[in-house]
Amino acid sequence: MERRSFLHFSEICESVAALSSTLDKVRAVATYLVELDDLDLEAATLFLSGRAFAQSDPRSLRIGSATILAAARAVWHIEDVELRRHYRSHGDLGAALAPFTRQGRRLALFAEPLTPAILRSTFGEIAAASGKNAGRRRQVLCEQILGACESEIETKYVVKIMTGDLRIGLLEGLVLEGIAEAFDQSPQDVRRAVMASSNIGHVAVAAKHKALESIQIAYGSPIGFMLASPIQYGTSYREFSSGNWILENKYDGIRAQLHRFDDKVVLFSRTLDDISTSYPEIIEAAQSLESAVILDGELIAQKSGLALPFRFLQARLQRKIVSAELLTEVPVTFMFFDILAHEEEFLIDEPLSVRRERLQTIPSTEHLTAAPYELLNTADDAAAHIHESFEKARNAGHEGLLAKRLDARYHPGRRGKWWLKLKRELATLDVVVVAVEWGHGKRAGVLSDYTFAVRTDSGELMTLGKAYSGLTDAEIASLTKWFLDHRLPPTQRREKARAGEIPVQPALVIEVAFDIIQRSDLHESGFALRFPRIVRIRDDKPASEIDTIERVREIYTQMLAREGLN
Ligand code: AMP
Repeated sequence: MERRSFLHFSEICESVAALSSTLDKVRAVATYLVELDDLDLEAATLFLSGRAFAQSDPRSLRIGSATILAAARAVWHIEDVELRRHYRSHGDLGAALAPFTRQGRRLALFAEPLTPAILRSTFGEIAAASGKNAGRRRQVLCEQILGACESEIETKYVVKIMTGDLRIGLLEGLVLEGIAEAFDQSPQDVRRAVMASSNIGHVAVAAKHKALESIQIAYGSPIGFMLASPIQYGTSYREFSSGNWILENKYDGIRAQLHRFDDKVVLFSRTLDDISTSYPEIIEAAQSLESAVILDGELIAQKSGLALPFRFLQARLQRKIVSAELLTEVPVTFMFFDILAHEEEFLIDEPLSVRRERLQTIPSTEHLTAAPYELLNTADDAAAHIHESFEKARNAGHEGLLAKRLDARYHPGRRGKWWLKLKRELATLDVVVVAVEWGHGKRAGVLSDYTFAVRTDSGELMTLGKAYSGLTDAEIASLTKWFLDHRLPPTQRREKARAGEIPVQPALVIEVAFDIIQRSDLHESGFALRFPRIVRIRDDKPASEIDTIERVREIYTQMLAREGLN
């Protein structure tokens, strides 16, 4: 078989999906990549990491399942009953369409068999389609791709890549390791190059030519945020017995990443969306920075040096156009506490001590301020020091403290023990709404009862309770509309939905506070919360980052311990 073909790529995907050891997966990827020429290598690594385009590439396919289905109907004979049956058993459009594959009428474009490189260039044409007939053009290109699939597994993987739903147990990290092994490079260097460039395809080609150092920082492409793990306030703080730590305020705002480069400034949210237009004062302040830089920090509402509570900032969230009045009423400051890149240097592998030093060279202004920090005194009495700083932080209107290890690298997208957050009321959880119900009495006519879930490590959602209170009438009214627009189609509903519940896409994250956790078989998680109330809507948090069932168990055990019950 032609090793460059897309058929071969698809077979690699099948075999990787069937392997359970990550080591074996990495080896299979490496053996495959080593034989590819540059164009196929670039495309195949992108596709293996589940993408049609590199993260740094602003293009997207803009075709949904409806277009793919319409294209499939134009190319093959599709039996609807069969299609539904396949869809139900696989829950995946690629696998559902695969059995309809017929030896295609290979269209002129594809005189040769489909290869990753050909697929990638056709994706480019799809993304470039614009103007009045763009939709039609995209569908025709999609028909050409499907028509070129000569076997079921090609169809399966072509569609999976187009829908962004690869699911072969190959996270980007494993593809990175595969690249490193294939071309005899250090995994660390490959990872760093991908973080810097947000383009795994370019990195693979550079690794092959032993030219990783030529990879440049992609200013303007967001980097995953490093996150903190919670620790209990008021313990003996064994966490700090090794290493040197600093303390920072835990700001009650929204996390953001600022890129200053060429003559541009871009601000990204935690969900990696561009939120620049909502914060003109920050953009203007950053324009005057003289060097290219990527800063990590928190946007807070602050007036005359005093932090305002989160609800003030709420007035600014998602405002695309900010009135002059709002700009004076709720001025926002970007408190930056980390620096990920400076000019040509990519800094994430430097220890925090070095990054902090570099950070101090960035001049602070009213709307762009370096977050202060202090060294944690672990030699004498860490607990007393933490207590004093905690009270100070609270009095200044902040949520608590963050402790950070000075020798830690910046770990994009990871929550580890290098950053620890200290909040007093540990009993809040970030959860995702999975189903809603119509309210009663004065809440009749709005969707006001929300069933929420936490996640397992593998990303499965498990319900934990139902919340009724905490939101204003206006918030409930606007959420009702959102929920109605995000109902799940019958094929995707969870089996365990109860009567009266309307299953919705698990995308809305809320923070719930509660008094007590109990064991209960009322919900899938095996726990229930007493008096859950919604503290706030967390539009800044994607559903993939909600709290885990592990965290629920931890709070439960801590609660029992405090009450002397275990
Ligand atoms: P949580 O949202 O409760 O998971 O807490 C983590 C969040 O705290 C981060 O995503 C940041 O938005 C926020 N945060 C506030 N202050 C800091 C800080 N000094 N360092 C890091 N994160 C901070």
